[in-house]
Amino acid sequence: MRLTPRRMLNGTAAVTVLVCYTVIIILWQGQRRQFSETRRNILLASNLSPTAETERSPVYSWEVSNVMKDRASRSVLNTDRVYVRSDRVLHKLEQVQGTDHKTGLKRGSRPRTLGGELEPTKTGVKTETEDIFIGIKTTKSFHRSRMDVILKTWFVLAKYQVYFFTDADDPEYQIKTGGHLINTNCSSSHNRKALCCKMSVELDRFLESQKKWFCHFDDDNYVNLPKLKKLLQKYNPLEDWYLGKPSIRVPLKIPNRENTEETISFWFATGGAGFCISRALTLKMMPTASGGRFMSACEKIRLPDDVTIGYIIEHVLKKKLTVVEHFHSHLEAMNLIKPHTFSEQISFSYSRFGNETNVISVEGFTQKEDPTRFLSLHCQLFPLVGFCAG
Ligand code: UDP
Ligand code: MN
Repeated sequence: MRLTPRRMLNGTAAVTVLVCYTVIIILWQGQRRQFSETRRNILLASNLSPTAETERSPVYSWEVSNVMKDRASRSVLNTDRVYVRSDRVLHKLEQVQGTDHKTGLKRGSRPRTLGGELEPTKTGVKTETEDIFIGIKTTKSFHRSRMDVILKTWFVLAKYQVYFFTDADDPEYQIKTGGHLINTNCSSSHNRKALCCKMSVELDRFLESQKKWFCHFDDDNYVNLPKLKKLLQKYNPLEDWYLGKPSIRVPLKIPNRENTEETISFWFATGGAGFCISRALTLKMMPTASGGRFMSACEKIRLPDDVTIGYIIEHVLKKKLTVVEHFHSHLEAMNLIKPHTFSEQISFSYSRFGNETNVISVEGFTQKEDPTRFLSLHCQLFPLVGFCAG
């Protein structure tokens, strides 16, 4: 074959295209690796939780036909084993460097009580179940799939204390809850605005009630009421108390909008595990949180409802979160909760990631009869309940 100038030109062009293509592929791969590393590092090492990062946007699919939803998690776990949800994968990070294996906390970085009063004072105030206001956030499409198991189990023990905050009228569930289904008229989505809107209504309804304690839970929580009552009895509702469990290992850091050179750092209790606030403290929250102002606070810091609660209490009011390890969200591995300690725990949850379910390990009903395991748990805690016999 003769080497004509035209052939040489074609050859050179082909080689150039090939080299460019290879370089582009190498650069692209590098970028991708860097991006996922950065994201992983943000989740692990920095103070941002996935909550903060995603604003709980509904990125993941969800089918209403199933009780166990495949959903985006809210934040990073803090427990025996550390789990981080990134994309659709749940990464188990055992014995993270510098982390106490038992508590999941950074060694020496945090006492059990986060800088607040170390021990509850003698209350002198008797807290009974009737003194607790329990708000549960839900949404129309979850009424059947999530509320039924609550209504069958722990709701029965606190019919007059529990209120469901939803986003639509539902005459059937209005009856089932004994008139305790509150249509917030907030939008029915999982974004920051909608969730903050519901929390705002929860707070207002609590303030209207004359109850001593405000407790919030999600509709995928089981609440062990006797233990919740016992916890609250240790604290004086006339003092400032914010009780719950964080899901991040270091305080959340956000830029201060008023002074861009500064950052604001605070703890917050994960909403998916539930938390309680004393009446005294909610009254102090009023200027920033009542009458719909809570939504403005969420907008201001652009963070979800549970984070905004932490922001108001810790940053605005300079009060401290008190960590109560017995609250559990599905960001933890539920099967690590030992059955012989069930009666000691305050809240439980469940979730599903793809085919993997995150549920407590409890004997009783079959998986089909009791996919959340809450019926079996209820029977372990209260064996005399009607449906538990036989
Ligand atoms: N939720 C809601 N609107 C929605 C989706 C969820 O109010 O569109 C509520 C839901 O009922 C639950 C809470 O938000 O009480 C958290 O939702 P989910 O458990 O599905 O997600 P997570 O944030 O725990 O991953
Ligand atoms: Mn959940």
